[in-house]
Amino acid sequence: MDMRFPVLEQYGLREIPFTCAQCSFCQVGHGACPTFKVKRRDSYSGKGKMLLARALMQGRLKASQGLEGLRDAVFGCTLCGGCEEVCQVDIPFVKVYQALRGDFLKKGMWPDALVTARETLLKTKNILGQAQMDRVEGWSYWHPDEDALLDRVGIAAKTAFFFGCASSFKAVPVQATIATTLVMEKIGEDFTILGEDEWCCGAPMIMTGDFETARVFAEHNIQKYLELGVERIVTNCPGCYKMWAHEYHEFLDIEPPFEVLYGPQGFQQGLDEGRLTFTTPLGVEAQAGTGLRQ
Ligand code: SF4
Ligand code: SF4
Repeated sequence: MDMRFPVLEQYGLREIPFTCAQCSFCQVGHGACPTFKVKRRDSYSGKGKMLLARALMQGRLKASQGLEGLRDAVFGCTLCGGCEEVCQVDIPFVKVYQALRGDFLKKGMWPDALVTARETLLKTKNILGQAQMDRVEGWSYWHPDEDALLDRVGIAAKTAFFFGCASSFKAVPVQATIATTLVMEKIGEDFTILGEDEWCCGAPMIMTGDFETARVFAEHNIQKYLELGVERIVTNCPGCYKMWAHEYHEFLDIEPPFEVLYGPQGFQQGLDEGRLTFTTPLGVEAQAGTGLRQ
């Protein structure tokens, strides 16, 4: 019996595995697959996954012969997009892998580690399993004006700074978060932050095929921003940016009603408008532990 992948079909990707020309660029070409380089198995390359999916769909391979192997290869992929860069028939690999991950979730073949990650996310609202109150309060004393930052939590403003989980809890990205708030303050940007009401953007779930859990997180953050009158969102995290700018639309059919800017794009606007120059001093005293320098 042939095998169906309903999530792949739902996103209009059913025919994609049949378009592979088997040129092997994705195995050996410039930017070729990092997992294939390590695993040395065809199934770990883009081509291998397409041929396996195709054979399963055509019934040339039984589920008992190929489904687990496809599952392992699909979840072993880093979603780096290297295969997409070199593919001569422009297969949208990353989207295909995310949809296939959704199919494995529906087939009850999701990896155990992801079940644990989802439990953590649903319980704590962030992927690191940290206390939500520490999203700002955990490190606000590193900021030169701790109160000024805390006072921004939950205020009404047209611009919101969406931190993201890593940029709220991990020491190095947190320093970039602080630096960004300093630049925004310096150029007179009135912005709001959600503090413990900021939930994960949902990227870990969208990337692993659990679109309905991701929807809960996307809708929560959008609702919070609507309540505050937000019109544009700035984020430093490339993963969060990808969600807000592209993937809520692609996978959840949600169009966030905000302009979405990657952090440096916000700085570019400040430069263009003359509110910021490359030599603008931030007026920050060097502080032990923060790595911030004037
Ligand atoms: S996206 Fe996955 S399959 Fe493609 S090159 Fe990167 S690791 Fe390999
Ligand atoms: S580069 Fe594209 S067409 Fe060529 S083998 Fe890989 S998936 Fe198939």
